[in-house]
Amino acid sequence: MGLIEEALSGVITEEMKQVACDEGVTEEFVRRGVAHGHIVIPVSPYRKVKICGIGEGLRTKVNASIGTSSDIVDIDMEIEKARQAELAGADTLMELSTGGDFAFIRKRIVESTRLSVGSVPLYQAFIEAARKDGAVVNMNEDDLFRITEEQARLGTNFMAIHTGINFETLKRLKNQGRHGGLVSRGGAFLSAWMLHNEKENPLYSEFDYLLEILKKHEVTLSMGNGMRAGAIHDSTDRAQIQELIINSELADKAHAEGVQTIVEGPGHVPIDEIETNVILQKRLTNHKPFYMLGPIVTDIAPGYDDRVSAIGASLASAYGADFICYVTPAEHLALPTPEEVYEGVISSRIAAHVGDMIKLKKRDKDLEMAHARRELNWERQYSAAINPERAKKIRSERMPADSDACTMCGDFCAIKIVNKYFSF
Ligand code: SF4
Repeated sequence: MGLIEEALSGVITEEMKQVACDEGVTEEFVRRGVAHGHIVIPVSPYRKVKICGIGEGLRTKVNASIGTSSDIVDIDMEIEKARQAELAGADTLMELSTGGDFAFIRKRIVESTRLSVGSVPLYQAFIEAARKDGAVVNMNEDDLFRITEEQARLGTNFMAIHTGINFETLKRLKNQGRHGGLVSRGGAFLSAWMLHNEKENPLYSEFDYLLEILKKHEVTLSMGNGMRAGAIHDSTDRAQIQELIINSELADKAHAEGVQTIVEGPGHVPIDEIETNVILQKRLTNHKPFYMLGPIVTDIAPGYDDRVSAIGASLASAYGADFICYVTPAEHLALPTPEEVYEGVISSRIAAHVGDMIKLKKRDKDLEMAHARRELNWERQYSAAINPERAKKIRSERMPADSDACTMCGDFCAIKIVNKYFSF
């Protein structure tokens, strides 16, 4: 029996108890969330993972995506990225390799982490078709489902699957045009395959079969956002909304069949459209967990896109997004290094916390920091910090003559002066 069926029959499983304990909510709250599809807990019968609840009423979670590319296949570096992501506090890891031996790389990465791991099975199916038969459009539908099942058996906990792209979606994309084209790899592969073969997307037309596979292996379905805008000027367009409507309908079906489901969202979104996107997504999906990719709020800051996306993600989280895919400083430029993975996770964790301060009123750590600063208690400040090591490093490299203060104001430390005359 899967978690949804257990929750519907009133059973509180060990996973639900763990989530309740981690989040400071009641076990009954988690059970109801899973039963209604507002909360998912990605698990796998093939691998024990650090349990992580995603959804309404829970802390905003951060995913770090890693994986090889066709240009750079360095498995040790990918394992180091997985390690850095975990060290920086990522909640989940997506293994998105598009170069090298897929099964071998995924196995090594899955074995190297305690985190829930996600994948996009169609990458492997399309790229293997290109290697074997000369082009991605030669992908065989049976291979796509076979690879999905193989990846599930490797212990993959959730899968991004592009179910919402059908001919209706493509018609809307074509009719409206776009400034930035299509930037999702999954969206691009599938659209090319459908147009070349004049066939419907098998992940849409054979959705029941897909659900059978996911249910059998207890994989959480993360409905892909293949039509997300890759440019601010394309945000919230007809193709994106068409895909969302289809995914919303299929998400209800998946939940009814006992498959835990997340729905992914954009993308490149200007700040004044973030709230609309969250409301639309939550309303149409009947409050399924919302996995936001970024969002990137301006197109003109390559090299700083971790910060650009943190601005968007903090607002998205405050408005109700439940799960954020990190962005690294290398986004739009290159495959990230382990250091950039670390930076990206920290930026997203800051955004998630800023959102949770509004959404969940989680401000206890900020209060702790305020008191630690008032007391000039540096150890207490470090322990309240999102990244204590960085805070410690900066201070220790520039130690002041007066060790109570810091080199910013030195002898004229405002806090020290005020503490002498006021008692709070
Ligand atoms: S020296 Fe200035 S910046 Fe540093 S702790 Fe005191 S008031 Fe704050």
